[in-house]
Amino acid sequence: MTNKLKLIAGNWKMNGGLVANEALVRAIAQGMAGASCTVAVCVPAPYLHQVNQLRAGTPIELGAQDVSRHEQGAFTGEVSAPMLREFGVRYAIVGHSERRQYHGETDELVAEKAKTALAHGVTPIVCVGETLAEREAGRTQDVVKRQLAAVIHTNGHCISEIVVAYEPVWAIGTGKTATPEQAQEVHALLRAQLKAATPHPERIHILYGGSMNAGNAAALLAQPDIDGGLIGGASLKAPDFLQIIAAASAAAK
Ligand code: PEP
Repeated sequence: MTNKLKLIAGNWKMNGGLVANEALVRAIAQGMAGASCTVAVCVPAPYLHQVNQLRAGTPIELGAQDVSRHEQGAFTGEVSAPMLREFGVRYAIVGHSERRQYHGETDELVAEKAKTALAHGVTPIVCVGETLAEREAGRTQDVVKRQLAAVIHTNGHCISEIVVAYEPVWAIGTGKTATPEQAQEVHALLRAQLKAATPHPERIHILYGGSMNAGNAAALLAQPDIDGGLIGGASLKAPDFLQIIAAASAAAK
């Protein structure tokens, strides 16, 4: 059990636009007054500058959805951690299942991305999670432990500075959520793995992600090892996102 503030991070994925972003950020800022949790929005790279300006004077933190393993140079299309820092970015998602699946990202690459982010003051939100086939084959624990082990191996004692997101692939964007018990079981496993790797495991937020919404957030966030959420679809609708923020605030009390 941890008593740190929960972290609620929205993953906008490849959604948004100048007009819609402004309305969404303003509505979140207005609606979250008095919230007792940390709130971040991870926006598409072209909108970092806009959202960084919109969030000025609000408690909203800014996140990116990916970061290069390289610091600079001939890597067309990539965005570096130092560039993200210039736009006020505090978090970068790494190893989202959509990047592992559609862009062939390996455990090693994800671990390198986490390392580069950390070296430049950007907190990586490291995503791990099993596919439906892996869960049905009884391989959930092996898969998530392997994914996290690569990040621990590459990052050594810095591991206490990361955020972990358990995102079962079968629950992302499908409307199928892990039950609170299913999620807690994996979170406890990840917590134990982190405890063996760092003297400061209590610093690490372990988020749940996968169809978290206004209706199921409270039960998930009540679990002892669920320190927050990584929210896709529901983060695009201010009322839904705000209800999740309210559930996270209530869980902290
Ligand atoms: C995600 O993409 O990280 C995610 C959790 O998506 P959704 O909430 O839409 O399942």
